[in-house]
Amino acid sequence: MVHVALPVTGTFEAWREAARDLHRRAVPPEAVTWSFGDAAADLFSGAEPAGAAPAAAAPALTVPRRFVPLARQAICHADPQRFARLHALLLALQDRPGLLGDRANAEVARIERMASEVRRDRHKMTAFVRFRDVGTEGPRRRFAAWFEPSHHIVELAAPFFADRFGDMDWSILTPGLTAHFNAGRLSFAPGATRPALPEDAAEDLWRTYFANIFNPARVKTRAMQAEMPRKYWKNLPEARLIPELVAGAAARAREMADAAPTLPPARAARIGARLRAAPDAPPPEDGADGLARALQGCRRCPLWRDATQAVPGEGPERAALMIVGEQPGDREDIEGRPFVGPAGALFDRVAGAVGLDRRDAWVTNAVKHFKYTAKGRRRIHQPPNRTEIEHCRWWLDHERALVRPRLILAMGGTAVESLTGHRKDLTRRRGGIETTQDGTPVLITWHPSYLLRLPDAERRAAAEAEFRDDLALAVQMLRDGAAAPA
Ligand code: URA
Repeated sequence: MVHVALPVTGTFEAWREAARDLHRRAVPPEAVTWSFGDAAADLFSGAEPAGAAPAAAAPALTVPRRFVPLARQAICHADPQRFARLHALLLALQDRPGLLGDRANAEVARIERMASEVRRDRHKMTAFVRFRDVGTEGPRRRFAAWFEPSHHIVELAAPFFADRFGDMDWSILTPGLTAHFNAGRLSFAPGATRPALPEDAAEDLWRTYFANIFNPARVKTRAMQAEMPRKYWKNLPEARLIPELVAGAAARAREMADAAPTLPPARAARIGARLRAAPDAPPPEDGADGLARALQGCRRCPLWRDATQAVPGEGPERAALMIVGEQPGDREDIEGRPFVGPAGALFDRVAGAVGLDRRDAWVTNAVKHFKYTAKGRRRIHQPPNRTEIEHCRWWLDHERALVRPRLILAMGGTAVESLTGHRKDLTRRRGGIETTQDGTPVLITWHPSYLLRLPDAERRAAAEAEFRDDLALAVQMLRDGAAAPA
C-alpha cells in the first residue's frame, strides 16, 4: 500500500501532484490510502506496491476542462473518502472522457453533489461570518470572527473576505483552519477553539441593518431556518430580532400588498396606445431593428391587446449564444426590454458566477407580449397557452434566422416547448442537450422565475446549483467551440 498525507491548505494542488505521481508509477486506486491534515504531510510513505511500474511508464493524464473546478470544490467536502473517489474518477476519465456528462453514473452524481454542498457551505460562510472589532494595532483596525463550516471551505472562501474587507486586518477562526489577513496578506494557521470576542457597538449596527432589509412578505419560518440554520444563530447579533420580526410579519405584509405593483403608469398607457395603432405585422425588415419594429405591429394572437408593448430580443446580431425565456413580465412590459426584473437579476447573479455575461448573448422570449390578469391594481402573470406559443414562434424563428446562434439556452417549459415541440418530462430533460428542427443545439434549464418561486430554501438552493451548472456547461460548450458535449 502507498499512503498519501495531504496538507490542509493547498490540498487540491497536493492531491493533483500525488495523483500524477501515482499514475506515473502505475499505482492503482485500491493500493492507495489517503489522509488529511497530518502533522507530517510529506506526501508519500509506504512500500512500493507489487507490480508498480517504473516512473514515466504511463501516458500523461488528461481530463475534460470541467473536471478541475469540480474536483477543486469536491475536495473540500467532509467525506473522508473524497480523495479516493476523485482519484478513481480521474482514472476512469482516461478511458471515458465523456463520463462527466453521464448523469446516470452514480459516482459522477455523487461527486457533483459533494461539489454542490461545498458551494452551498461557502455561500453560507460568506453570508454568516460576522466580524467583531478587536482593537487597533498600527494604522489598521482589527476584526475577528468565529465560524463553524460543515466542510473544509476556509481556504476556498478566504479570498472573498480579502476582496470585500481588504482595508482592514481580520482573522476568521474555525475549528479546522484559521485565516489571517494582515496588511493585505492572506495566511493560514491551525484551527482554533471558540474565542471570547467582545460585544460592542457593531452589534447594534448589525441589528439595525437586518431590521431594515427584512421583507415581511417573504417570511417563511422553515425556509428561514434552512437558509440560516440555528447553528449559525449564536454568531449573528441580528438573529435575536427574528422572533419579534416574525410576529409582526403578517400585518406588515398586508400593508406592503396595499402599496404594491400597479397597473402600468400613464406613460406606459400612451406607448401602448401608439403601438396598438400600428398596422398588423408587416414582413420583418432586415436586421434586428427592422424585426423589432415589425414586432410592434404583431396581431397574430390576442395578447397584444392588453400588453403595453411587444418586447423584442436584444443583443449582438451574431451572438454565439441565444437565451430564450418565457414572456416579458410586469417590468419588461413597461420598459420594453427582456429580463430587466427580478428573474433577470437572478439570472445575472448566477451567470456572473460562471463567467457568463448576458451582453454577449441574444436574449429573448418565446412569447413577446406580457400575458396577465388584473387583480385590483396588480397584474398577475399568466402562462401563455399552446396557441400563443405557436403563433409567437414565427418571431422566434425570425430571430434565430437573424442571429444563427451556435447554442440556445432554453429556460423553462415555454421556451422548451417553442424550441423542441413539447415540454414533457422537463425535470428529466433539464441539463440535457436537444436540437431544434434545423439542428441547433438547445441546452435545457430551469427558468429563473421558477427558482424565485420555490418556497423551500433547500430545494431552491439545489435547483439554483443545477441552474448554475447548466450555465457553466453553456460557457464550456461555447469555449470548446463544440456544439454538443463529449
Ligand atoms: N421572464 C421571462 O421569461 N422573460 C422576461 O423577459 C422576464 C421574465
